[in-house]
Amino acid sequence: MPIPPSIAVPRLPPLPTGEVLKRTTSRCPVCRRPCPAEVVREGQNPARVVLRRECPEHGPASMVLASDARFYWLAKGDPSNASCGCSGGACRASDDAPTGTLGRNAAGRGTAPFESLATCLALIEVVDSCNLACPTCYADSPVGAGSAVRAPSLANLQDRIEGVIRRKGGIEILQLSGGEPTLHPEFHALLAWTLAHPRIDYVLLNTNGVRIARETAFFEALRAIHRPGKLQLYLQFDGPQEAEQRKLRGADLREIREQAIQRCAEIPIPLTLAMTVTRGNLGHVWDTIEYGLRWPHVRGVSFQPAFESGRGSPVTGMTTVPDRLNTADIVLAAVAGSRGSLRLEDFTPLPCGDPNCAVIGYLLRLGGAVRSISDFVDFREVQGFLRDKIRYQPEDLARCGCESEPLGDLLKRFELDASNTFRLFIKPFMDAWTWDQDRIDRCCTHVIRPDGQLDSFCRYYSGFPDTRASL
Ligand code: SF4
Ligand code: SF4
Ligand SMILES: [Zn+2]
Repeated sequence: MPIPPSIAVPRLPPLPTGEVLKRTTSRCPVCRRPCPAEVVREGQNPARVVLRRECPEHGPASMVLASDARFYWLAKGDPSNASCGCSGGACRASDDAPTGTLGRNAAGRGTAPFESLATCLALIEVVDSCNLACPTCYADSPVGAGSAVRAPSLANLQDRIEGVIRRKGGIEILQLSGGEPTLHPEFHALLAWTLAHPRIDYVLLNTNGVRIARETAFFEALRAIHRPGKLQLYLQFDGPQEAEQRKLRGADLREIREQAIQRCAEIPIPLTLAMTVTRGNLGHVWDTIEYGLRWPHVRGVSFQPAFESGRGSPVTGMTTVPDRLNTADIVLAAVAGSRGSLRLEDFTPLPCGDPNCAVIGYLLRLGGAVRSISDFVDFREVQGFLRDKIRYQPEDLARCGCESEPLGDLLKRFELDASNTFRLFIKPFMDAWTWDQDRIDRCCTHVIRPDGQLDSFCRYYSGFPDTRASL
């Protein structure tokens, strides 16, 4: 692909030397064509894990996948990629790291469309417009409101959702996204339909919170259709601090978000704070957790390292290189900021797809105190029952085989009140710099495309010419 003259070709970091853990297929960060790649462990104290590839046209490039190898889980896809000599499909990148892929998509070789893989979460873009213009928007949503909103009809959205339900038997988590989904002209009708649907277990609403905070009539209509146990908001929230707000969103929206949180507390509608993490707000990861812990209806924080997709791409001049963050950076920042409330052992990979696709942790709210889950359970030993779930619940923890122990009793009590648990979720989506085809091949987070087919979230938003061409 020729590079437009306005785009500076990034200076590519040199290839590291080190122990090759596996081979896979990545992408050239300049032309985005597929390239053979190696995952390499290098250095010590801490060792880190690096993805290196070489484009025939643009030369070598490397990117750190884990700044601390304890937070990289070696899970191989194609057996011919195996390079470390182990016979299984998963092994450890460091002696401390738990196992690799176990779940429903462990053996999956996903090919687009992704019908053959289990879908833990299905996302549908409800509108193609937004009332904000975040410079980092992965969906690259055009600004628009009122009659300028571009949106598929309610019937089109229902058809596509029903198509997935017919083919897959049901949807565990349906995520309404956009753009800003609350701008859809028939938003409340759509939400009410999804909440009442017997084959949709749970609905997540991705929102920037502007309409909830600002429009009383909109909020009251939401109150009227809310169904406890079926709906949660994913509220865009980039920390309680001033740093990075304008850079990420083009405006300081903290007041609006707090209004939205306050309003949701009235019903209450549970919510997760969704934080895009950059080098500029990394030091406030724990502040965000602490902020969330103040609200009983805030059930956790989802951290997403900024990646290059949509507006945050080299095409628009926004780049996260060389300041790219990875899962290890966020875990280490959260633990350091907590001054003892949170421990490294509180985090474990979710093994339903590739274990590097999602890392999860829990804090417990007990009588006004915040406790590390590792005070009660070896959280890394719970892989077996986490294997097929993004949306696991306190009651799943009670099924970890320790019902007869004091811990089992303790966890069963949490079932009575989900607000006792506070979930931390790290979701490192991929772009050309971090692309590992093995992860795509077992992806469990799918977009319902405009043609009704399923696609990997990372693949759909990658903007790679060949992935767009298949739409
Ligand atoms: S990131 Fe969300 S709120 Fe921001 S422009 Fe994109 S869709 Fe809108
Ligand atoms: S969308 Fe990307 S990060 Fe998420 S499961 Fe799929 S490949 Fe992994
Ligand atoms: Zn290239």
